[in-house]
Amino acid sequence: FGGVEKEPSMHIVHVAVEMAPIAKVGGLGDVVTGLSRAVQDMNHNVDIILPKYDCITLSNVRDLQFHKSYSWAGTEIKVWSGKVEGLNVYYLEPQNGLFWVGCIYGHRNDRDRFGFFSHAALEFLVQSGLDPDIIHCHDWCTAPVSWLFKEHYMHHGLSKANVVFTIHNLEFGADLIGKAMAFSDKVTTVSPTYSQEVSGNPIIAPHGSKFHGILNGINADIWDPYNDEFIPVSYTSENVVEGKRAAKEALQQRLGLKRADLPLVGIITRLTHQKGIDLIKHAIWRTLECNGQVVLLGTAPDPRIQNDFVNLANQLHSSHNDLARLCLTYDEPLSHLIYAGSDFILVPSIFEPCGLTQLTAMRYGSIPVVRKTGGLRDTVFDVDHDKERAEALGVETNGFNFNGADADGVDYGLNRAISAWYDKREWFNSLSKRIMEQDWSWNRPALDYLELYRAARK
Ligand code: ADP
Repeated sequence: FGGVEKEPSMHIVHVAVEMAPIAKVGGLGDVVTGLSRAVQDMNHNVDIILPKYDCITLSNVRDLQFHKSYSWAGTEIKVWSGKVEGLNVYYLEPQNGLFWVGCIYGHRNDRDRFGFFSHAALEFLVQSGLDPDIIHCHDWCTAPVSWLFKEHYMHHGLSKANVVFTIHNLEFGADLIGKAMAFSDKVTTVSPTYSQEVSGNPIIAPHGSKFHGILNGINADIWDPYNDEFIPVSYTSENVVEGKRAAKEALQQRLGLKRADLPLVGIITRLTHQKGIDLIKHAIWRTLECNGQVVLLGTAPDPRIQNDFVNLANQLHSSHNDLARLCLTYDEPLSHLIYAGSDFILVPSIFEPCGLTQLTAMRYGSIPVVRKTGGLRDTVFDVDHDKERAEALGVETNGFNFNGADADGVDYGLNRAISAWYDKREWFNSLSKRIMEQDWSWNRPALDYLELYRAARK
């Protein structure tokens, strides 16, 4: 419309060590793909630079081809190109074998491997004349991009660019993250509340003025109950009750649970301190006391914790065989069926930078019951207590939350949730329909990132 100037399109290059679905370990991989897709759909030009690991899932790469090769730091680096989810990706393959080790992380020289990659990526940008507007790097692994750029490359061949750095997890590589904060034009983390929670951290505090929280979104193509091969009946908010009933039956049948006439609480998580292990255990027993069923899907990287849950599973499977199932594996198809077949998804995290499971739950019409921390606070608005806070942000209330990181906290959330299922079924069903209609995709966060990119260029 007259008077509104069209924003010029930007060229953004992500330098990252994960990308879903070809090289994914956690949320970082999802963000790189989801954000890039959304920004590209808004008519900007996006490229991704990734190491060419020997463990990349090549079946998800289209038109893989040799692009060029260059010498750097005494080794030849072969560059490949190929599309992933419609995105242009360059894969760097140094012939010194740094990425031929069968895994993404977990090598004793990870710092050297990713330091080398960060440097090689900037070198590739110069050698190929790409000259982007924004170089976006992520977590400690590609933190070196920020200072290598400011100390060298911005004076030698990449004159146009500004650097944006995103912190997905502050727990690893704090020294590198601190340095990247100093050398980046803008720094983000993955939710506004988490950004406030960590703002006093001595790594973050000195750079507060360029630090922003932007929520993650979920990939609405992958998580779509209308088009999901892992659930029995496709559904939208229009037939959510029927769709979820069929999914619940299929889930119960698959796991050998009986009694469809009970509320089902689902938990899908890494079993680590961050995720509130003691609260999860308490919630399982509390749900059973409240006449509910529980399905947990999760794995513990720490073998002691895994073993602890194996014992709990054995105990529950003998005392409450019809009512509780703990699946201590990683199983993506099963996770889809749990999101669809549960009445509630419980997320009692001690801290949570953003959290994706509560967003996916809502997409499938499952009511989130969460601890009010980090990104969980920014996305789940309590039906009893957060009406004003939700209205101020233009969303409707959508779940149950609790503050305390203790048994009383969990009980407060769960009791209200389960009572609503028993006593106010019609209201409960309308809530389920309403949350399915909320938009937790990348549409909105991508606009926030574009605004940040523009601000970085001023
Ligand atoms: P984090 O990245 O801290 O683990 P998020 O909530 O951001 O937590 O993302 C977790 C993602 O991993 C979600 O998509 C969830 O569905 C998935 N997930 C976690 N555990 C499992 C599991 N055992 N099997 C399948 N998917 C899982």
